[in-house]
Amino acid sequence: MQQGPPEYNYRLGILRYLHPFDGVKFETIYTEICKKSNVDLISPPSQVSMEIIDEYVNEVMHYRIRNKNGICNALEIPKIPLVNFSFLNKKILIPMRWGVAGTILGATKALENNDIYWNLSGGYHHAMQQNMEGFCIYNDIGITYQQLIKKGLLTSDDKILIIDTDAHHGNGNAYSFIDNSKVTILDVYNSSVYPQDNYSRSRVDIPVPLMPGTQGKDYLEKYGQALDKLDSDYKIAFVVAGTDTLSVDKLGRLNLEIDDIAEREKMTLTALKNRGIPAVILGGGGYSKDSAKSVIKAIETCVEAGF
Ligand SMILES: [Zn+2]
Repeated sequence: MQQGPPEYNYRLGILRYLHPFDGVKFETIYTEICKKSNVDLISPPSQVSMEIIDEYVNEVMHYRIRNKNGICNALEIPKIPLVNFSFLNKKILIPMRWGVAGTILGATKALENNDIYWNLSGGYHHAMQQNMEGFCIYNDIGITYQQLIKKGLLTSDDKILIIDTDAHHGNGNAYSFIDNSKVTILDVYNSSVYPQDNYSRSRVDIPVPLMPGTQGKDYLEKYGQALDKLDSDYKIAFVVAGTDTLSVDKLGRLNLEIDDIAEREKMTLTALKNRGIPAVILGGGGYSKDSAKSVIKAIETCVEAGF
């Protein structure tokens, strides 16, 4: 089952000339998936509130997430006078807060129905309580974990799994759970690109560091070996399924093709289903011209496989 309203889109206007990505991929995927009669679609009722965001971030971040310069730095866009906070809020931050709401909804449904849900957005794995960077403002997994505990759907004793197959190491998730031994992190990433942070990398329980240009076959073989190491007693799994592992992606610098991403997501769902772990799959990074195509193919492949 998938979720993802058109509100997820980043309609950047003039900024699309400054940032090389497909900001409307969510709508492309959603429109295509809507045509499938055997897929149930749900959408969050609203964006996540700033109160919920503020419960998670520290005091410095409370101000930084409301400041144009801080947001521009995290989004890696120039601080041009035409772009004010209100513009950034409308075009990028509100869509991201819809994405966070999707992660909370997907995780809640996953726990309630013991099933796997797919949030087309979310997976902001470079954001943390005390920082935001790498086009990630709100750490949706950390926020969701906090809210699930608050609602009584999880306890702090429950074991949690984070699988991160985005091309970049999830430093935000590593820092968010740096002292939480109940959270297991499996991270497959290009070790030669951002973020080059040995401390956060050392938090990863099952690391799969890869060389630039790693091909799909090699990636999937190493990923399969990592999945085999997983226990089955996790209460829920969060999966950051970035598509910046595609060969056309200029940032990830790995060499996967559309079929490799489909196979990867099928492997993920199979590993989770076989262990009876409820999960929410998250969009993660990847805004190349083939990103939408690869997510559509992956969802079709997983649906055909009976998920
Ligand atoms: Zn990435």
